[in-house]
Amino acid sequence: MKLTVVGSSGSFPSAESACSSYLVEADGFRLLLDMGNGALGELQRHIGLYDLDAIFLSHLHADHCIDMCAYFVARYYRHDGGRCAPIPVYGPEGTEHRLTTAYADTPSASSMSEVFDFHTVKPSTFEIGPFTVHTERVRHPVEAYAIRIEHEGKSLTYSGDTGVCDALDELARDTDLFLCEAAFTHGKENIPDLHLNGREAGETATRANAGLLLLTHIPPWTDPQVNLADARAAYPGPVELAVPRMTYEL
Ligand SMILES: [Zn+2]
Ligand SMILES: [Zn+2]
Repeated sequence: MKLTVVGSSGSFPSAESACSSYLVEADGFRLLLDMGNGALGELQRHIGLYDLDAIFLSHLHADHCIDMCAYFVARYYRHDGGRCAPIPVYGPEGTEHRLTTAYADTPSASSMSEVFDFHTVKPSTFEIGPFTVHTERVRHPVEAYAIRIEHEGKSLTYSGDTGVCDALDELARDTDLFLCEAAFTHGKENIPDLHLNGREAGETATRANAGLLLLTHIPPWTDPQVNLADARAAYPGPVELAVPRMTYEL
């Protein structure tokens, strides 16, 4: 299994990074986790525009899903070879309606299901291509999911957006790579059930006995080195910052 960081900026894009988007590949299958602002452009550095096999949306905040509107245009009005067949899209209740509304109030907007095959995510275990995935509700102001992806004895767990959360501790149990948000800074921002800070991400990784902790979703106005140091103080294992174009083999 291979992870590529497509975009890792939290809440809004920076000059260096698109918002949340991560490519997970195995056996030639390509699953994209989230498609935030700017992610569709950045994705094309790594794979062709039509090479995705499935998309998982952790929740419907714009920094995790809004480039799906641009991807609808690319698939629906495809210039070489005609309209694309529907690709599986896994998202919370109401994903199709939200994306359709965000796109436009025009007849073609109701055609999203012609190029996206929407599946409603609930806390469960199911297969996506060669992957076994587990989803859990996490703590965020909107319906939001973390996902654990398993393939050939290895696992990767992505927190999505969340506050401190027992369900995330369990989902990330003994995971090999823990892609965990650290949007807040310890001692600076403290809003329950919204985001983790670096220290809380480290504490979560410690409780879960995770492998590599990869901090992500740090907004442009936050110093990532502070969150990195806070996470390292709370977690004895390896900790890195998720940086666009970095890849990890599991
Ligand atoms: Zn977010
Ligand atoms: Zn969010």
